[in-house]
Amino acid sequence: MIPFNVPPYCGREDAYVLEAIHSHKICGDGAFTKKCHAWLEEHTGAAKALLTTSGTHALDMAALLCRLEPGDEVILPSYTFSSTANAFVLAGAVPVFVDIRPDTMNIDETLIEEAVTDRTKVICVMHYAGVACEMDTILDIARRHGLLVVEDAAQGVMSTYKGRPLGTIGDYGCYSFHETKNYSMGEGGAILLRVDDPRAEVIREKGTDRARFLRGQVDKYTWEDLGSSYLPSELNAAYLYGQLEIADEINAARLHAWELYREMLAPLAEAGCIELPTVPEGCVHNGHMFYLKAKDITERTKLIAHLRAHGVQSVFHYVPLHSAAAGRRFGRFHGEDRYTTRESERLLRLPMYYGLTDSDTAKAAEAVIGFYQGGPAT
Ligand SMILES: *Cc1c(COP(=O)(O)O)cnc(C)c1O
Repeated sequence: MIPFNVPPYCGREDAYVLEAIHSHKICGDGAFTKKCHAWLEEHTGAAKALLTTSGTHALDMAALLCRLEPGDEVILPSYTFSSTANAFVLAGAVPVFVDIRPDTMNIDETLIEEAVTDRTKVICVMHYAGVACEMDTILDIARRHGLLVVEDAAQGVMSTYKGRPLGTIGDYGCYSFHETKNYSMGEGGAILLRVDDPRAEVIREKGTDRARFLRGQVDKYTWEDLGSSYLPSELNAAYLYGQLEIADEINAARLHAWELYREMLAPLAEAGCIELPTVPEGCVHNGHMFYLKAKDITERTKLIAHLRAHGVQSVFHYVPLHSAAAGRRFGRFHGEDRYTTRESERLLRLPMYYGLTDSDTAKAAEAVIGFYQGGPAT
């Protein structure tokens, strides 16, 4: 069976994790964490990058940095992971969901402004599959209404929008280094700050100024603000650093597999059997995900079973948040759900990971082609 995902591993991790062990510094913010911070700041241009214990915790930190008050509203897509909304609910805010664009599955930037109220404080975008949202329009809305912009760029490491790395365009950007992402430390993430804010390292260190103390800038550390323990262990940072060092190679390998899928499946798309992802002009993606869209949920269910029978594991993705129990309890949908539910039911993800071979990519694509032999299913 060709698995849907294999956690990234490049061979450098073992030595770096051992090095961390033998340095007798395994808690957070040691040498490997600093190397990861330097890599992230250098490669993204963010004023500040901080590793976190997960992408979820990066979002939680971003929500705390937004200084939300109970009843404040955050505009975000419903087609996203629970963490995108949870972060703001934990901070006391109300998620206001708006519809997505069917071509990229990203928030529809043309629907955001009509969802703005006098309680709106934040627009939180999510760059699905590492393909950027229409950020110029979104930043313009935010500027005119005095809103903060948070980017859930969990899937967007190494992607750009008009030359700007995802996660550095809004006020706060959140990366994930979960084992399902392009670069991994098992569980982990990072928050990027467009403008450095000393509150970030305080929030990350249990609400204390411990980071300043460790740099010798104060002679004791005390409780200063809200916070939690958001810094990962050096063992995790060491694992990640091995992959960041060869990020270009990992990125190129994923894009190669993505292009091969696209090439092999293009005739099916031209025949009207399936739809393939769109990458708008100005967006450079990172091969995070290869998805296709079947006609509807019935056809998708059959296709998943067909692929499984042919040795290919494929999976669907998000159940829209506004239709889930917590989404109904904590948030509301603004406007009409034209695409969120319908498109989410058609979407299917094919195997994609660092190390996926050309022959396995081709085998997966051929299994899809086999399903549609004889033209579009009716
Ligand atoms: C993976 C992911 C997250 C959560 O990241 P974790 O590191 O698993 O906590 C959040 N948002 C999106 C869009 C993701 O894909």
